[in-house]
Amino acid sequence: MSDWLPYGRHEIDEDDIQAVVEVLRSEFLTQGPKVPEFEREVAGFCRAAHGVAVSSCTAALHLALKAMGVGHGDRVWTSPITFVASANAARYCGAKPDFVDIDPATANMSCDALHAKLEVAERVGTLPKVVIPVHFAGQSCEMHRIRALADRYGFRILEDAAHALGGDYLGKKIGSCQWSDATTHSFHPVKIITTGEGGMVTTNDGELAWKIGVLRSHGITRDAERMVGISHGDWYYQQVEFGYHYRMTELQAALGISQMKKLASFATRRRELAACYDEALADFPLRPLARDENGTSGWHLYVVRVDIDRCRRTRREVFDHLRADNICAHVHYIPVHLQPDYARLGFVEGMFPEAERYYQECLTLPLFPGMNERDINRVVSSLKNALFAK
Ligand SMILES: *Cc1c(COP(=O)(O)O)cnc(C)c1O
Repeated sequence: MSDWLPYGRHEIDEDDIQAVVEVLRSEFLTQGPKVPEFEREVAGFCRAAHGVAVSSCTAALHLALKAMGVGHGDRVWTSPITFVASANAARYCGAKPDFVDIDPATANMSCDALHAKLEVAERVGTLPKVVIPVHFAGQSCEMHRIRALADRYGFRILEDAAHALGGDYLGKKIGSCQWSDATTHSFHPVKIITTGEGGMVTTNDGELAWKIGVLRSHGITRDAERMVGISHGDWYYQQVEFGYHYRMTELQAALGISQMKKLASFATRRRELAACYDEALADFPLRPLARDENGTSGWHLYVVRVDIDRCRRTRREVFDHLRADNICAHVHYIPVHLQPDYARLGFVEGMFPEAERYYQECLTLPLFPGMNERDINRVVSSLKNALFAK
């Protein structure tokens, strides 16, 4: 039996281990110099003015919405083809989540569907306060079009780039916030770089960055200029917002700094492996996601659609075949609106038909920088048996 091949895996080397060990021997395990250094690394890479590190991308989404003033009665729209965290963040703020159907070619939020939904919402007075485009699988949404709609309808844009660090769009790094108010990143082990758990918000809005920084640590500031009245002395701090405990540790930040050194090589390797799949699967009855010429994907995921008319196999059959061969194919994602906890909010099947059709067909193949050509061949030959065997 061949080894278990996961769909994604972190890449940790001796330098990463040394970086964490050094922190363990140092003065600070949390709230020291490594966190701001990591923030500068990521923000600098993305060419954004500010980075604010937090405990996860979920926390980053929550705090970014909170800092944008999202609260009870507000509406936040995202894609149904995302991890549940993108939509849950709205609910943490007491806001109402809603979804915009996908473009079936890319599985990203459809700008046409967004425009149509905004027109209706304007008429009936249900415009969103924030829209969260998710750069699915690492490929950017059409940000210049979403920006134009934001200017026309007056919503703010929070990009969910959990899949997309290292990708670019119209000559800008994803995370640059060229077309948005802020972008969130994830450093979970399956994502592009890892800190074990961790997340960050990048933004060019200094006030937003300040607010997120305060909210991640109980809403407390030690900056006298931000206080109400005057400081009582050097011990003094004030809670100026109602915040949370969402901080990143020094251990995590040190790992993140070390991982950032390898981001470019990870990205290259992911692109090369994706190109191997492209070539090997060209004659298979599978449809990879369409590529937008305006950008380069961060290649978090390699997704194909199993078209039942052409394959005469269901996605389930192909998936089970791969799993029987110890290949951990996956499905990204179950449409969020179909989750039982979202049904409770009134969402039902049929509301976002492209997302639902996509869910019947989508299959994620293993892709991570530590894979080699032999691993790719294993996946391809298992797929071949699944699709072509009598
Ligand atoms: C992983 C992921 C998140 C959540 O990231 P965490 O760091 O695990 O909180 C949010 N959105 C998307 C699209 C993701 O893939």
